[in-house]
Order: sequence, then structure tokens, then C-alpha cells
Amino acid sequence: MRKKIVAGNWKMNKTFQDAEELLAFIAESIEKKPSCEVVACPPSIYLELATDFALDSNLFVGAQNVSQFESGAYTGEISAAMLDSVDVDYCIVGHSERRKYFHESDEVLAQKVDKLLDHNIIPIFCCGEQLEDREKESYFDVVKMQLKNGVFHLNKNEFGNLVIAYEPIWAIGTGRTATPAQAQEMHNFIRNLITKEYGKETAGNTTILYGGSCNPGNARELFSQNDVDGGLIGGASLKGEEFIKIVNSF
Ligand code: PEP
Repeated sequence: MRKKIVAGNWKMNKTFQDAEELLAFIAESIEKKPSCEVVACPPSIYLELATDFALDSNLFVGAQNVSQFESGAYTGEISAAMLDSVDVDYCIVGHSERRKYFHESDEVLAQKVDKLLDHNIIPIFCCGEQLEDREKESYFDVVKMQLKNGVFHLNKNEFGNLVIAYEPIWAIGTGRTATPAQAQEMHNFIRNLITKEYGKETAGNTTILYGGSCNPGNARELFSQNDVDGGLIGGASLKGEEFIKIVNSF
């Protein structure tokens, strides 16, 4: 079901005390039901803390990563079943930082998506091109391949449980945001790809988020584009007031 979502990707930031303070601030700020679904994606060590806040508030909780394996001898990994057991709602998959620093291939990402869906957790599947892809005008091809390899193996039913996040790598953490027109162009391209693969109804029901230096100053215009259904927010999600301003940008 297509919905408006603002999700905060905290990455590897915050101590336990800071996390508790930020979660309390967000939960309190969205006491009056916000006009979008609000998701906090803290480091995994704070997920249970976050789902405790979610119990008594309008907050949803996302993980930042999951293992492609079901269980067993995979030291340091966290499985989809474990995320499910502490009531996690969403999980980011395929973030460009995981692709770059942890060499996560399309094949592994597809397995992670499958595991999450097996455990009723909604994957937030990230795609997006590098600056050189944009300059070479191959950005549509890059995103098409990422979607083809990462999520288009799903059947229509399964795909219906997915959220897509378009995150141009050149915009992540750089302060250089895609223009609303650039975001709309790619989101529309993605929705058309989904139409070809799964039909118009599924495409119309898919939530597609924008990510990359989104802040309180540019969120309203980005979110007002026809095919932009909200944002995946990095840096600005670490400051409660900025994050809530973005949440209130619809
Ligand atoms: C992200 O890493 O998902 C992201 C969008 O980061 P930032 O908002 O800091 O560019």
C-alpha cells in the first residue's frame, strides 16, 4: 500500500543515553498522529529500546541491516527472525555504504530481501547512482540493474510489501541534494519500471522514498513531487528538531 513515510537512518551514531533521548523526543513529537509514517532506524543494539517506545506511540522501527542467512554460525550477524522477535517493522537493505564498505553484491541483497519478507519485515530497498554514472548519463541503467537484480525476482504479492528508496550516492552526506526535478524524474522512471514488471496497480501502490541531503529547507518541495512519497534521512535524522520539521513537511 502506497504511504507517506519519513525514515531516519541513524547509521553508526549515538550512545545509549543519546538514543533514548532522541527516541523520547520523536515519540513525544508525533503524539498527535503525523501526516506520514515515522520510522527510526537506530543501530541494532538500540532496536529493542526503540520498539519499546513504539509500543506506546506512533513510532515505527527499522533496522539498518540483516543477515542473508536464516541462523547459525555467522559471528556478528543478526537474522530477520531476531529482528522480528523484537517487533522491528522495517529494514534498510542495499544502502550504498553497505554496498561500498561491506561489498554487498546484488545477489546477497536479493537474499536479504527474501529473508526479511519471510519474517514479515518490510525491506526499504536502496538504489542510486554514483556521480560518474550521472555525468555519463547512465544513471537510469544503473538503477534499473540494481532493481532487476535486487528485487524484481519477487512475485507480485511479495513486491507489494516492499518500499524503495532512491538515494543518488553523490547526494548522500554531501549537502548536495538532487533537485526536485531530478528526484521526480528518477522516481517516475522507477514507477514505470515497476509498471512494466508488475502492472499499473502495483506500481501505483509502491512507496518510493528520496534520500540524499534531505533537510527541513528542501523536504517540502521534494515531497511535493508526484512520485516522491517521503524520505530516507541520514544526517538530519540525528537532530530531533530537524527530523520533526522534515516529518511535518507534508
Ligand atoms: C542516507 O545515508 O540514507 C542519507 C540519506 O544520508 P544524508 O541524509 O545524510 O545524505
